[in-house]
Amino acid sequence: MRKRTKIIATIGPSSSSASKLNKMIREGADVFRVNMSHADVKETKRIVEQLKIESSKLNRPVATMIDLQGQKIRIKDFGKKKFVQLKSNEQFILDSSLPDGKGTKDNVGITYKDLYKYLEEGDELLLSDAIIKLEVIKIVKTRIYTNVIRGGKLKPHQGINKKGGGLTLRGITQKDKNDLKEVIKIDIDYVAVSFVRDEKDIKEVRRLIGKKPIGIIAKIERAEALSKIDEIAAASDGILVARGDLGVEIGIEQLPAVQDRLIRKSIAFDKIAIVATQMMESMITNRVPTRAEVFDVANAVTSGVDAIMLSAETAIGRYPVDVVQEACRICEIAEKTNRKILKVNRKEESFVSIDQVIALSAVYAADNSCIKAIACLTETGSTPKWMSRVQSNIPIYAMTKSNVASRKICMLKGVYSIKLNEVEYDHAKANKQVIDLMVEKGAVKKGDFVIITKGDLMGTSGSTNALKIVEVGNLVDV
Ligand code: PGA
Ligand code: MN
Repeated sequence: MRKRTKIIATIGPSSSSASKLNKMIREGADVFRVNMSHADVKETKRIVEQLKIESSKLNRPVATMIDLQGQKIRIKDFGKKKFVQLKSNEQFILDSSLPDGKGTKDNVGITYKDLYKYLEEGDELLLSDAIIKLEVIKIVKTRIYTNVIRGGKLKPHQGINKKGGGLTLRGITQKDKNDLKEVIKIDIDYVAVSFVRDEKDIKEVRRLIGKKPIGIIAKIERAEALSKIDEIAAASDGILVARGDLGVEIGIEQLPAVQDRLIRKSIAFDKIAIVATQMMESMITNRVPTRAEVFDVANAVTSGVDAIMLSAETAIGRYPVDVVQEACRICEIAEKTNRKILKVNRKEESFVSIDQVIALSAVYAADNSCIKAIACLTETGSTPKWMSRVQSNIPIYAMTKSNVASRKICMLKGVYSIKLNEVEYDHAKANKQVIDLMVEKGAVKKGDFVIITKGDLMGTSGSTNALKIVEVGNLVDV
């Protein structure tokens, strides 16, 4: 059996070729992320097209997640110099009136012209993922004078964060709007929104997406988002714990507790949970992960995430295929040996739809009986989505004729997506089709009990209303 936890692989120069994509799918990558901080619309389209080709060659659906750049504040550059060396206890000035190319070892331009208005003496600024630490000593017009507390190599265009957060620019940037308008014209499955501040950002993206069946993932990477997490979770389809920027803003020592809280929050809201950044960082250059990385991935699995995300590991790393393989093995073993049950108490909850009733009944029934697997015939992916919101060991085989649904459900933990070319409309024939496929996949064998869920009106979306228990090898014909 394949792992239940999904792997999101970021595409970059190390992994964007047809053969690398093909190998990563084969090794178990389920979702491919394109980061629009680096890739433009044209490259994004090329990758999505290539993924479709490789996925159909392998007969294995995969999803795409397009990550919008968001409001990252960055320094400008140093002309021809590749970097400047900042020394501890020296002065360095951030000055929004300095243009690109004019940076020196004493000062550099910044992309946010009003930054100086939101800072005061004593504020701590972190650059290059917190490698460099500056303390604001005074502000004169647009010039922010700082004392270098922790020096280091400062490369052009590095990000700036303020300890504690609060450097928020409101709303979705023009670049994100333009990118979004273009990428929703192609077959993408999820959009990740960077530097979400509150649910208004998510609602704005939702409005721009319109009726397209694209899931919205909120990247939690600024301190302010933590106090709005209920509203953000309710408005989005999933939450991504973006430990890179979040760790810079709140302090890396806060991350374990916050990660745990965010995962629990998504589970409580029945939303997708993703953990990201530095999961297998050392594999950017090494063939094997560190013990700490093995534990990090396994801990995320045990906390009940849908997916773990690989960033630089697959985008620019030396071993994009091996890292997927290693991550899959860690997930698979963690799932088998280290399961912590995170029950969601639904006793007080009213169900919102018929397919949710069927989906949850199927998993609860299967989890507490001899049933080996669930086969779920679906049109939109809604039923398997509900099934995957229950923490269980039961494999869910979601079968659909819809290309869109077959891709989107790849993000959901415990759901194996199977794309059908044809669906039998006669119920007895459909049952046989489903069971034959599962036997062929090695999911079940003669004598096993399986739950099948489907609708009376197969071929119509949202129509799942039936749950049937069948014995493999002993199906009735009518
Ligand atoms: P990024 O976001 O990879 O787009 O920077 C993730 C993070 O900040 O952890
Ligand atoms: Mn980030």
